[in-house]
Amino acid sequence: MRACVLTATGPNASYHREITEVPDAPAPQAGEVRVSTRAAALNHLDLFVAEGMPGSGPGFPHVVGADGAGVVESVGSGVTTVRAGDRVLVNPGISCYTCEFCLAGEHSLCVNYRLLGEHLPGTMAELVTLPAHNVARWPALSPELTWAEAAAFSLVTLTAWRMVVTRAQLKAGETVLVWGIGGGVSLAALRIAKLLGARVIATSSHDDKLTEARRLGADVTINHRTQKVSQEVRTLTQKRGVEVVVENVGEATWEESLRCLKRGGRLVTCGATSGPEVRVDLRRVFWHHYTIMGSTMVNAREYAEIVRRLGEGELRPIVDRVYPLAEASKAYERLAKGEQLGKVVVEISSESPR
Ligand SMILES: [Zn+2]
Repeated sequence: MRACVLTATGPNASYHREITEVPDAPAPQAGEVRVSTRAAALNHLDLFVAEGMPGSGPGFPHVVGADGAGVVESVGSGVTTVRAGDRVLVNPGISCYTCEFCLAGEHSLCVNYRLLGEHLPGTMAELVTLPAHNVARWPALSPELTWAEAAAFSLVTLTAWRMVVTRAQLKAGETVLVWGIGGGVSLAALRIAKLLGARVIATSSHDDKLTEARRLGADVTINHRTQKVSQEVRTLTQKRGVEVVVENVGEATWEESLRCLKRGGRLVTCGATSGPEVRVDLRRVFWHHYTIMGSTMVNAREYAEIVRRLGEGELRPIVDRVYPLAEASKAYERLAKGEQLGKVVVEISSESPR
C-alpha cells in the first residue's frame, strides 16, 4: 500500500518523511477492522512524533497520521458494529478495554493507551487496521460530510470536548479565554464553548484569523502579538479575569494564562506546543483557589457524544486546505509554520474501496 512514512526521527523531520510502498496493514483479527483510508488529517502530534518522543514509535518505516476517515474494507470475527462498505470516522486513541481505568469507563486513562500514528501505524496510508471500538459510523448530514471534513473531525474535537465540557465544566454565562485560535483544538474549543452558551475571548497573532474567529462566534478577539492579553482580559472583565482558560501552548503563554484567571478559576491544558517547562507561583494558586487540570483524549462515551453532535449539524470541522498524498510534505510544512486556520488534510485516495 502507499503510505506517508518516517524513516527516522530527529530535528530535521522533513528529510525523514517520504511517500512510499509499504506492506499492507495486517488483515483484521478478532474485534478489529481494516479501513480503506480516504483522507487523513494532520495534527501537532505528528510533528512531535517526527522529532522523536521518548518511548514512542514501533520502528521504521513508521506510518504517520492519527486522524482519518474511510470505508471499512474487512472486519475480523465478532465485529457487529460495522460491516465492509460502511463509511467510518476514526478515533485515534486505542484502549485495552481490560485495565481498571477502561473497566471504569475512562478509556483515555488506560494503562496500555496507544495512539495511531504515534505508538501504532497511522492513518496516512491506503489501509489501516484498528479495533472496531475505534471507528464510528458516518453520521447523516446535509450537506453531506466530505472525506476531508470527516478526517478532520476526531482528534481536535474530542480533545476540546473533554477539556471544555468534562474537565473545566464550562457553563453558560462564564467567560473562557482560548489561545491561538488557528489551531484545531482551539477552534473546536471556541465552538463548543459557544454551544454551551459561554462568552469566548480568542487570541491569535494573525488578524485574519481573529476575523474568522469572530465569524465563528468569538465574542472578543485579542492579537497576542500586539496586545498584552492579561491587560485586555482584565479590562474586558471589570478586572475580575475569566473563569476558564483553555491552554495548549505551554511556556509561551502559561504565565499570562494564570494572570487572566479569575479567583476560583480553572485552567485546563492539553498541550505544550511552545515547550513543557512552566513556572507556577504556588502562592497565587492557593490564594486564588485556582484549579489547574490536565486533559487528553476522551472515553468511549464522550466520543459517541461528539459524533452524535456532529450528526445534529454541530461541530462540523473546519478544513483549512487539502493536499494529495504525493504532497504530504507540503501539508506538514503548512502545519509547522502555523499558517493554517482549521485542519490541514491529506487525501489518500478518491477511488472506490480496494
Ligand atoms: Zn485499559
